[in-house]
Amino acid sequence: MSLAGLPERVRVREVGPRDGLQNEPEVVATGDKVRLVDLLARTGVPRLEVTSFVRADVIPQLADGPEVLERMDVPDDVDVTVLIPNERGFDNALAHRSRFGEINCFLSASESHNQANVNRSIEESLSGLERVIGRAVAEGLRVEGVVSVSFGCPYEGHVPPERVFAIAQRLMAAGAAEIGFGDTTGMANPVQVRSFFTAARAALGDDVELTAHFHNTRGQGLANVLAALEAGCASFESSFGELGGCPVPAGATGNIATEDLVSMLHEMGIATGIDLEAMIAAAREARAVLGRPLGSHTLVAGPVRWNDA
Ligand code: ZN
Repeated sequence: MSLAGLPERVRVREVGPRDGLQNEPEVVATGDKVRLVDLLARTGVPRLEVTSFVRADVIPQLADGPEVLERMDVPDDVDVTVLIPNERGFDNALAHRSRFGEINCFLSASESHNQANVNRSIEESLSGLERVIGRAVAEGLRVEGVVSVSFGCPYEGHVPPERVFAIAQRLMAAGAAEIGFGDTTGMANPVQVRSFFTAARAALGDDVELTAHFHNTRGQGLANVLAALEAGCASFESSFGELGGCPVPAGATGNIATEDLVSMLHEMGIATGIDLEAMIAAAREARAVLGRPLGSHTLVAGPVRWNDA
């Protein structure tokens, strides 16, 4: 803990190549994806979510996931994550087992969002994911379980935290070492986030890693990061360039930008291990590939300069 009562160091997982690019309207060329992944892997970011094993007809943006995994050149000290939607996706991923060490399994905290997203009930998703997680742990893989719409659902509104924690407990019992809580459509506010993470730690115990996954849909992402830090959360997910978006609400922005997150944390004296200039350079490359302005602020403004060196 720092003087301000905040963690001295946090872990950041860069999810732009998956959460960002899967929501881009255009399909990015495989070579560009590989180049972006390789740039990100050299920023000092400790965790990198590279792609997903969803069906190609469902998310054509990530249809080349296996090829990206095989072609990328990622240093050994970066933990590579792939997103696994179901058991068939896991079987497909196993053909590339040597290329990643973590999987991310996800479901939604509300029935309507889970139906809309994966066309299953929560119980159907949970029982399928329990099998996947069990097999993944047996393969020596680390598992993150992500609960989408943990802070509010665009269809149902309020989501009781107790329901979120009950889902988290099922994922933990199956073998998940980390639970990510997604503010998938940017409904969370800082007061809610502070009480949520305090209650989550009390409900889920000290052995599980708790991760915050905020979207910047309404510009409140970094305020929510501060609130999560104040509640002891020391693990965050973000996308370089603020890549991505979300179909609900239409046209909404994506995750908080990694370079904005890192800039704020470093200015607050919280270490991430990430070279901010290198992260900005990776976001600049993404902007060139996509050929349009991105939502990131620090990409435009650059790092803070105090001129006191
Ligand atoms: Zn997300």
